[in-house]
Amino acid sequence: MSSIELTNIAKSWGDATALHAVNLHIEPGSFCVLLGPSGCGKSTTLRILAGLETASAGQVLIDGRDVTRLPPAERGIAMVFQNYALFPHLSVAENIGFGLSVRKTPAAESTRRLREVAALLGLETLLERKPAQLSGGQQQRVALGRALVAQAKVCLMDEPLSNLDAQLRQDMRRELRELQRQLGLTVVYVTHDQTEAMSMADQVVLLNRGRVEQAGMPRELYARP
Ligand code: ADP
Ligand code: ADP
Repeated sequence: MSSIELTNIAKSWGDATALHAVNLHIEPGSFCVLLGPSGCGKSTTLRILAGLETASAGQVLIDGRDVTRLPPAERGIAMVFQNYALFPHLSVAENIGFGLSVRKTPAAESTRRLREVAALLGLETLLERKPAQLSGGQQQRVALGRALVAQAKVCLMDEPLSNLDAQLRQDMRRELRELQRQLGLTVVYVTHDQTEAMSMADQVVLLNRGRVEQAGMPRELYARP
């Protein structure tokens, strides 16, 4: 299980500042939710963690290792985004296995991991289908599968459930938490939905205008005025 530490992370574009000295400690194997209104800096924080943006200042540590200057592929993280970004012309199996084929993982090992992840997500009978032949929830599971198959210990998620209808979203929240516990994943999860944050998080980090306004367990945040 991996810990995450952000130390004095700042990000500006010209004179527009998205993040001011953000400090964050995330326990190994915990589920951390970044919450706050549109434009408060949630995605920027996540993208800096992922290495998709460079911080203007500060440090990112994963498991005590300074990854601030490392490219995304060398950080040992997986990512799931809002618009599943599945390849429409590839099957479910090919979508899940895409990263493995890119990394030239041996065929036997790929097949083993693919079966394992498909079983975990209940996708065994859908492996030959194309994304367009799946429901929203199933597509979301495929996107998740693609992240899990890489066996990263850290998974970053940016509003991964926001395209689903209300009932499915609730089911997926529960499913996601179960999976996360089962795999010992450290998850950083972005949402602007307070109910979602409160129902899923071990730790909620409330961002406002590029600063951490509050951080704590959901009930601690609720208890405050
Ligand atoms: P959130 O995810 O909370 O909606 P973002 O992290 O996307 O917020 O954005 C934080 C702030 O940074 C916003 O004011 C946004 O307009 C600005 N911002 C984000 N990306 C860029 C960029 N590439 N160039 C300039 N400003 C940006
Ligand atoms: P979200 O709201 O889902 O976080 P956005 O629509 O704010 O995403 O941002 C989408 C992309 O546009 C991101 O890559 C972000 O960095 C970039 N972006 C956001 N705000 C600005 C901005 N003011 N100027 C330039 N790029 C921006």
